[in-house]
Amino acid sequence: MEKNLNKILHNMTKDKITLSRIKLMHPNLRKEVEGMYQLFTQALTGKAICRFAYTLRSFKEQNDLFALGRTVANPNGKTTKRPFGSIVTNARGGQSYHNFGLAFDIVLLKDTEGTGKFNKASWETNVDFDGDGKPDWQEIVTIAKQHGWEWGGDWKFTDMPHFQRTFGLSVVELSGLVQNGKVYPGTTYPIIEGKPMLV
Ligand SMILES: [Zn+2]
Repeated sequence: MEKNLNKILHNMTKDKITLSRIKLMHPNLRKEVEGMYQLFTQALTGKAICRFAYTLRSFKEQNDLFALGRTVANPNGKTTKRPFGSIVTNARGGQSYHNFGLAFDIVLLKDTEGTGKFNKASWETNVDFDGDGKPDWQEIVTIAKQHGWEWGGDWKFTDMPHFQRTFGLSVVELSGLVQNGKVYPGTTYPIIEGKPMLV
């Protein structure tokens, strides 16, 4: 047990990047996501850990992403068919739950050489890296859903790394709150009525 706990703490501190990205999430969610991330870490005890690749994305960052492959060339995806490369997102600034800190995207980091360095990104959703009979990715999905999160893998156009918590509000409603200044002072996080601010 103690050995296991040490490993958990080791893996937790291993990914300071994820912990710092959780701090960028909507204030109503930070405590919950920190708790969830701890559960992800406890569930994944093998050759992979969970990293949050994205959490908050500002309206400007979202618009820049929208432009990729459309008006700005995407250097990764240039083809003769699409001279500007691959399109990355269909959401403009204010059209993604990421813009309000209400979404995160995961990636697995693998320890391929067994050196304790989790340095190889993996989007394999069906690999059981810790040998407990359940693919690591699916273990994360199960925990997130238990906390009331929606998973992009359930959508018609799947977005496997994506998770969001909407509080029943559309992005249009959330944008409206931001435009009307209904935000936590000095931030761009919309005030979600009736939901306790936990942090
Ligand atoms: Zn996402």
